[in-house]
Amino acid sequence: MARQVETDKKKRKNCSLCADKVESIDYKDAAKLKRYLTEAGKIIPRRITGNCAAHQRMIAKAIKRAREASIISYVFD
Ligand SMILES: [Zn+2]
Repeated sequence: MARQVETDKKKRKNCSLCADKVESIDYKDAAKLKRYLTEAGKIIPRRITGNCAAHQRMIAKAIKRAREASIISYVFD
């Protein structure tokens, strides 16, 4: 008698990147990456942005790469 799992029809993902059909994120696109960073320069968690796991991973990777290339700073003032 398993309780029925809530269908996810109501809480559809509102991943902005899926909506834009983004398939890859350019780590050189600092303006875009900054949308997913807090004022402190941290990556905004998925729960807040509403991104899907795949895109969140892409963002995280791009941000890390951008940091290494000093395109975006690790810490913002
Ligand atoms: Zn997505």
